[in-house]
Amino acid sequence: MAINVPNRQLFIDGDWREPVLKKRIPIVNPATEEIIGDIPAATAEDVELAVAAARVALSRNRGKDWASASGAVRAKYLRAIAAKITERKSELAKLEAIDCGKPLEEAAWDIDDVAGCFEYYADLAEGLDAKQRAPVSLPMETFKSYVLKEPIGVVGLITPWNYPLLMATWKVAPALAAGCAAILKPSELSSVTCLELAEVCREVGLPPGVLNILTGLGPEAGAPLASHPDVDKIAFTGSTATGSKIMAAAAQIVKPVSLELGGKSPIVVFEDVDLDKAAEWTVFGCFWTNGQICSATSRLILHESIAAEFLDRLVKWCKNIKISDPLEEGCRLGPVVSRGQYEKVLKFTSTAKSEGATILSGGARPKHLKKGFFIEPTIITDVTTSMQVWREEVFGPVLCVKTFSTEDEAIELANDTHYGLGAAVISNDVERCDRISKAFQAGIVWINCSQPCFTQAPWGGKKRSGFGRELGAWGLDNYLSVKQVTQYISDEPW
Ligand code: NAD
Repeated sequence: MAINVPNRQLFIDGDWREPVLKKRIPIVNPATEEIIGDIPAATAEDVELAVAAARVALSRNRGKDWASASGAVRAKYLRAIAAKITERKSELAKLEAIDCGKPLEEAAWDIDDVAGCFEYYADLAEGLDAKQRAPVSLPMETFKSYVLKEPIGVVGLITPWNYPLLMATWKVAPALAAGCAAILKPSELSSVTCLELAEVCREVGLPPGVLNILTGLGPEAGAPLASHPDVDKIAFTGSTATGSKIMAAAAQIVKPVSLELGGKSPIVVFEDVDLDKAAEWTVFGCFWTNGQICSATSRLILHESIAAEFLDRLVKWCKNIKISDPLEEGCRLGPVVSRGQYEKVLKFTSTAKSEGATILSGGARPKHLKKGFFIEPTIITDVTTSMQVWREEVFGPVLCVKTFSTEDEAIELANDTHYGLGAAVISNDVERCDRISKAFQAGIVWINCSQPCFTQAPWGGKKRSGFGRELGAWGLDNYLSVKQVTQYISDEPW
């Protein structure tokens, strides 16, 4: 099962480049706390080189550049990338598992989704060719108008650590499909598979400069990218705090941004449900990827009449789950990504306890694991709506619970947050589910499930969870600008 992390450099202009300042960042396996390699640390100097390479890719060979290549040509490269990723699936899944602590089985699903996403945007790139010069109907016959959809230009893509290659792909695939040249800055906590994406791009002969990958720290590599005057757009996924800094930097030069930020999503469970099925979605919704999901439904709003029986089921699940090294067969819960995240999550649970909440299950390191950033799945009751654990994103395996008696009360609790990413309702009453999905203040609503995500459907939040939509046709529009072309077609003088 042993796997070595390849030693890589920055990927600029189609080739590996040592960072100008020659700095590197160690990679820690969160399950063993061992250093398993290192990644290059880009700084502003490398950002300059990458932006220049991306600019050239958009202007290279007068008309044979990436932006004016047909969608069919771009699709060919995207499909080749998808095929290589599928070929290397098992290795990439292992690298993801040792880099960010994700159970191997989950990591393998992510890699399938990555390949599927490149395939999907290959189809959309081809579709773009047919959609050019879309006519606009005008009220005057003396004019003719049509719309050109053009790539925005050079785009900066900044991504988090929870789904390292998948979050990068949600941006890279549509950006390249649209004809943009991109600079990807993955999270310093999990960049390994993104550097392998660079190798894949080299192998398939993606034209130089079309995709550049700069690993490094946020303030050193991400900030100069966000504020760079030659970067035409920033697409960011990460915390609300960093999103706000990126928006401020972009505002200085009126650069468009799209932001996929944090969440504190509710799951409302009514009394008319099948308790086993509802419990399954509740644990999946909160503990999948160890709760390190932006849309994790980490606030359980539970009908008071089923509370005792339902919580009993959840606690049993927590006690029986296999927590282990992510590479071990049958692992359901691995470690959280880093020591910093481990300490942050445990601080949330200890603060909740000191504020009077009850830790019904978990709240500590599992006794059988002496090393690694492991935390038991944690359920917290007796929570008040003013507690930090109810209001703030924990980004770890922590579920807080409140009960309700009426539908109005449930909706009020669900919307009692600055965030607005996901929201779930579990009930057998179809009309009630419909009412509640309209009442939820969230960008994504799940009925009788939590977390399923499809490449074809729009993804994004409201309120402080950000704006703009990824995935589907909406994801492609993120990287296209709309140009109106209007022509005077009458022989008569105006
Ligand atoms: P983070 O904000 O700490 O970092 C995200 C990225 O921003 C990293 O690449 C980081 O290096 C970079 N960065 C940090 N400071 C920067 C700066 N000053 N300028 C430019 N870039 C900078 O987030 P994280 O801890 O990596 O990820 C967890 C967060 O991501 C959670 O809040 C989670 O909800 C959110 N997230 C949201 C979605 C979504 O779809 N809405 C998906 C996944 C994760």
